Amino acid sequence: MSWERTIILKSPSEIAVMREAGRINALALQAVRGAIRPGITTAELDEIAAEVIRQHGAKPTFLGVMGAYPYPATTTISINDELVHGIPGKRRLKEGDIVSVDCGATFEGFVGDAAFTVGVGHISAEAQKLIEVTYRALEIGIDHLREGNRVGDVGAAIQQFVEGQGYFLTKEYTGHGVGRSMWEGPQVPNYGTPGRGIPLKIGMVIALEPMVLVGTERTRVLKDKWTVASLDGSLTAHYEHTVAITENGPQILTVP
Ligand code: MG
Ligand code: MG
Repeated sequence: MSWERTIILKSPSEIAVMREAGRINALALQAVRGAIRPGITTAELDEIAAEVIRQHGAKPTFLGVMGAYPYPATTTISINDELVHGIPGKRRLKEGDIVSVDCGATFEGFVGDAAFTVGVGHISAEAQKLIEVTYRALEIGIDHLREGNRVGDVGAAIQQFVEGQGYFLTKEYTGHGVGRSMWEGPQVPNYGTPGRGIPLKIGMVIALEPMVLVGTERTRVLKDKWTVASLDGSLTAHYEHTVAITENGPQILTVP
């Protein structure tokens, strides 16, 4: 999937506002993470995130985003083979599930966007490894978000690590610039060629988000027209942070 969107560099004062948006978003995700247990519904988790965002005077970024129909919730909650964009509802978490929660918060017009994957109770060794590899892929990618690098350096580093672990990355969904809009340029795929692509600049803010699949790079969209799952039903994981490229290197904005 390719698209062109404008790249908008942020000033230090704009990044300061984005840091607050990111902090609120991180607090919402932290509250959801703390509530994850067998038996809770994904709608209950969504309400926890919505409440934290409201309490801090922010707005849920995802609510109303246009797809086949307006997105109906604050978070996306994707379980096991579901990779991204799962709609919260009546489904109850079970021991052994792995759950990916993605959330956006808009504060004073700026967006924070972040996601994590966590196990419900005891999970398999394979599921645990998948989660760890996905988190490490995010860390490796973030370390490449520096002026002087190009978008391809970031994707190549993530791809080399994840594929080296025997896993797959979707080519259909990517990281992205973020600011007053949830999607700005540049598009930041989780694959690439070193030295290729758009040069990274101080003032860019990137939502970097490795989406890792155990058995295939191919995905399908479920009947609800939002949820994206692995084509083969294998487990998937997703981590995301909103990161500013600064003179002092990459700064993660989506931290509590
Ligand atoms: Mg996200
Ligand atoms: Mg994102």
